[in-house]
Amino acid sequence: MKTENIKPFENKIWLASPTMHEGVELGYIKDAFEKNWITTAGDNVNEVERLCKEYIGIEEAVALSCGTAALHLAVKLAGERLYGKAKTGCGVLTGKQVFCSDVTFDATVNPITYEGGEPIFIDTEEETWNMDPVALEEAFTLYPEVKLVVLVHLYGVPAKISAIKDICKKHGALLIEDAAESLGALYKDKMTGVFGDYSIISFNGNKIITGSSGGALLVHTKEDADKARKWSTQARENAPWYQHEEIGYNYRMSNIVAGIVRGQFEYIDEHIARKKEIYERYKEGFKELPVKMNTFIDNASKPNYWLSCLIVDKEAMCKQVRGEKEALYIPEGGKSCPTEILETLAKYNVEGRPIWKPMHMQPIYRMNPFVTKDGNGRARTNAYIEGGCTDVGADIFARGLCLPSDIKMTKEEQDIIIEIVKSCFE
Ligand SMILES: *Cc1c(COP(=O)(O)O)cnc(C)c1O
Repeated sequence: MKTENIKPFENKIWLASPTMHEGVELGYIKDAFEKNWITTAGDNVNEVERLCKEYIGIEEAVALSCGTAALHLAVKLAGERLYGKAKTGCGVLTGKQVFCSDVTFDATVNPITYEGGEPIFIDTEEETWNMDPVALEEAFTLYPEVKLVVLVHLYGVPAKISAIKDICKKHGALLIEDAAESLGALYKDKMTGVFGDYSIISFNGNKIITGSSGGALLVHTKEDADKARKWSTQARENAPWYQHEEIGYNYRMSNIVAGIVRGQFEYIDEHIARKKEIYERYKEGFKELPVKMNTFIDNASKPNYWLSCLIVDKEAMCKQVRGEKEALYIPEGGKSCPTEILETLAKYNVEGRPIWKPMHMQPIYRMNPFVTKDGNGRARTNAYIEGGCTDVGADIFARGLCLPSDIKMTKEEQDIIIEIVKSCFE
C-alpha cells in the first residue's frame, strides 16, 4: 500500500475512547433511575465495590469520584499512619519528602503536594518504562529519611514490583500503587492493585474500562476502607446532625457513574484481549522498522495492553528539538521521530500521543530533586535534544510515542495506520 492512495479517515481513530455495550451499562443506569438512587449511594456503588474486590482480589475497595481522589485519600491514609494526624489546615505530609515515579501522568504526583509533601522523582528503567529499582535504592542512600513511595504501572505494564517492594521493606517505607492504567494486568499471577499498602484504579474515560469518570481506592483492612469512605463523604460523624471532627471531601462515586462501571466490568477481559491483539498486530507490522514496542517482563507479568507504544531506535532518530510548547524536526531519509509520526498520523485524522513528559522536566516540578541510577539526576540532566539525553525518562520521552489503541479500531484501519507510520521512515 502506498501512502498516496491513503485518504484521511472519515471518522477519527482515537487513542483510546470509551467502548459501551448495547443496553448493558444503560440497563444499570435505568435501574438507578427507577429506584431513584441517583446520588452517591445505591446498588451500583455497592456492586462496583464488590466487583473491584472480587476481580482484583483485594480485601477492600472504596468507589470514588476519580482516580486522583483515590490517590489523595491513599496519600492521607499513608501520611497519617507514618506521621500522625495533621493540624487542621495543614497537609499530612508537610515538610516530608516522597519518592515518586517520574514518567507518568501528573495525577500520580499532585496528591503528594495537596498534602504539603515534596515529590522526589525516581528515574525509569528501559524494560517496563517504570520506576527503576536501582535508582530507588540510590534514592534511599541520598534521602534515608523518606518513608513513602508512589509507584505507577505505566500504560498497563506492571513495574518491577518484587524488587521495589523489597526495597521499600528494607527501608521501612510504605508503598502506594497507582494502578490507574493497569487494571487487569498481572504480576506473577496477582493483579496490580494488590501490591501497595494502598492502591488505586481509575475509570476515567480512556482507561481499559470506564464509568465516564470514577476511580477506586484499594486497601487491606476494613478500618482503612471505612475511614476513606467517611472522608469521601465530608467526614460526618455518627450523630443526629452534621457533626465534624475531621476535614472531609466530596469524593464519593455517583450511583449513575457506578452503573456504567458495573456494566463495563462484564467486558473487561474482552477489552484486554482486544488491546492485546492491537499490540501484537503493531508488533508484527513494525517488524522491519527501526522501532521497538513497549516491553514487559516476559516471564513475570501480563500487561493489560492499555496503550500500544513504540520507541524509535537511537540510530533511526532524525533531528528533533522540543521546546516548552513546540516541537521541530528535520526530515531525513530512513529516519523519523515522534514529532514527525504524530504530525503525520494527525494529517490522516488519527490520534497518537507523546509519552507522558517526565515530571522532572515539568516547569511545576523543575525544582524537585530527581534521582537516576547514578545518583543526583539534576547534576546531569541538561536537555532532551536528540543525543543529549542523560536520563532514561527523558530518552523515552524523546524517542517514544503512544499509538492509537482504541478497541473499536478495525484490523483494516490498523493496517492503514501501520502503513502511515512506515511511510515516515521512507
Ligand atoms: C488516569 C490516571 C490517573 C487519574 O485518574 P482520574 O480518574 O483521571 O483522576 C492517575 N494516574 C495515572 C497514571 C493515570 O493514568
